[in-house]
Amino acid sequence: MPRNGRRRTHNKKAIAIQAMMDLESTMLGNQDTTILNSASSLILRIGKKHGIRKSGYLGLTICRKCKKALIPGRNSRLRIRSKSLKISCSECMSVRTLGPSFGRD
Ligand SMILES: [Zn+2]
Repeated sequence: MPRNGRRRTHNKKAIAIQAMMDLESTMLGNQDTTILNSASSLILRIGKKHGIRKSGYLGLTICRKCKKALIPGRNSRLRIRSKSLKISCSECMSVRTLGPSFGRD
């Protein structure tokens, strides 16, 4: 493979972010638990590799403990309390709090 000197290091992170967004939309449009869980582990892996920290809440989240995709009403419970979101995982019972500044950056 010839290397034509095009600098792409700058683009790598952007591609990774795009890939994460694509995975997220796949997850939102998918009901298959196997796909959901493999997509969530991919998102975590991409995020770790490129140092991308997700901010905000896009309708789904990933349990930090059991690494499963949390869909409200399916395997997680979502509570809103004083501008922060509390998401509890029904698989391992861990609770994650988002906010209060989510959605602002
Ligand atoms: Zn969990």
